[in-house]
Amino acid sequence: MLITFSRKCHTLPRKRWTLPRSTRTEPAPPGRKALTGKSPDVQMDIEHLSKAVPQLAKVFNILDKIGEGTFSSVYLGEALMRDGRKELFALKHLIPTSHPTRIAAELQCLTVAGGRENVMGVTYCFRKDDHVVIVMPYMEHQALVEVIGSLSFAEVRLYIYHLLKALRHIHQFGIIHRDIKPNNFLYNRRSRVYALVDFGLAQGTADTQIELLKDLGGLRKTPRPVFGERNLNSCTPTPSATTPDAGKAEEALSWRCSMSRASGRALSGSQKPAKAVQPGLTCDCFLTDRVCNVCMSRKQQVAPRAGTPGFRAPEVLTKCPDQGTAIDVWSAGVILLSLLSGRYPFFKAGDDLTALAQIITVRGSRETIRAAKTFGKAVVCSQALPPQDLRTLCETLRGRRRASPGEDVPSALACRNRSPDGGSICEPADSAELTLQNQESFSNCERTVCLMKPALEAEEEEQGWDRVPDEAYHLLDRLLDLNPNSRISAAEALQHPLFKDL
Ligand code: ADP
Ligand code: MG
Ligand code: ZN
Repeated sequence: MLITFSRKCHTLPRKRWTLPRSTRTEPAPPGRKALTGKSPDVQMDIEHLSKAVPQLAKVFNILDKIGEGTFSSVYLGEALMRDGRKELFALKHLIPTSHPTRIAAELQCLTVAGGRENVMGVTYCFRKDDHVVIVMPYMEHQALVEVIGSLSFAEVRLYIYHLLKALRHIHQFGIIHRDIKPNNFLYNRRSRVYALVDFGLAQGTADTQIELLKDLGGLRKTPRPVFGERNLNSCTPTPSATTPDAGKAEEALSWRCSMSRASGRALSGSQKPAKAVQPGLTCDCFLTDRVCNVCMSRKQQVAPRAGTPGFRAPEVLTKCPDQGTAIDVWSAGVILLSLLSGRYPFFKAGDDLTALAQIITVRGSRETIRAAKTFGKAVVCSQALPPQDLRTLCETLRGRRRASPGEDVPSALACRNRSPDGGSICEPADSAELTLQNQESFSNCERTVCLMKPALEAEEEEQGWDRVPDEAYHLLDRLLDLNPNSRISAAEALQHPLFKDL
């Protein structure tokens, strides 16, 4: 059988505009499942796919479904090669409503940047009508949740090194992945193989080398007015941050609105926001539970907001309109924080505001406010929270250190109870009373079964957790720099002293 990349996929039919991908659900746990005993549901899905794309069945024996998200299903297929060997492939069936440019851009990222430097390659692509199936080499991998409790420090260091390598590579092409998380970075612990997948949300930098990512710029402008997001959205101190089609009057309005809010915010809680210079033209709803006419009539700020809340950078969470490759570096930082603390997911937030509140509990409120200012966003916090020392935080969560009374481990993140089976359970957090413009309070962490196994001290020592070098926490601090302009790049991070022998 000859497998080559077909250009056919670039001439996709015009279809309905796709859903915003930020609502996507997690795919099924990865990893190769038993090849026998498919559930009737999976069997039915395989039959549907075979009918929708009949060419597939001529080449592949579809064995199982290995991943399922809102925007694709991934199957395991076996092909008989010319030399008689059987080879395994991952068949990613995109939902038929995906925008053709979106699909083509995902493919182009894989074809141009993939196949090296820990980035998944592509083997072939099938299309029948509006059904597209991307064929990739199958990579056996483990879900991070399954192994995080037993990883050694050496393994963690390698994992993050290889993730940064993949990021440096795609960033060189001007690709912003936008959905960096463990489910999209396949990891084979035994063979130490790593692969970045899923360019379904990727976007291009201004000078991207991926032609189709440039075309996506036009698709991005559709505003998504969502009630309840208005206040986080409304105050924009930089005129450049308004929508591209916003008129001059609109710009002036938002500017004034932001100025009045900013001055109101500078006052202490008991004082009222500064009096409006021109009543009726300036926002006067800040810290109230109503929406004033100014805010009501504002145009929605348009900023890409893809990804998974817990991995989103502060500039994404606050809808900063210029987002760059630094957003992927932040996500890598969140992964490193998970790996060093042994907790996955680390930030478990269902929405952006909760995610921002959780970031604030770790990185500090003043620091977050200051960083947000640099990218033109005003963040308000009703309570001042100090930044955490990262080593203390990780060692405490790892159980290597007891939280002493004066020590601040964010309550939303600390596990209070150990369950009898060795896992531990997160208590709902005390309300931290964080107010972020629209006065939503910090919602409590849901009951989460944390995945840390009770590790014997001796075992921990063997795994190197007793001598994590300062460099690891220094790098973590640089990856989780709240300010995208000073945040370390993937290329710089690879030069970090933590990796000097690699
Ligand atoms: P989605 O856009 O639906 O998230 P992904 O490309 O992330 O799709 O794939 C979903 C899941 O399928 C991945 O998390 C992984 O478990 C599995 N998968 C994807 N590509 C491969 C591959 N080449 N080899 C093995 N498994 C894969
Ligand atoms: Mg994915
Ligand atoms: Zn207002």
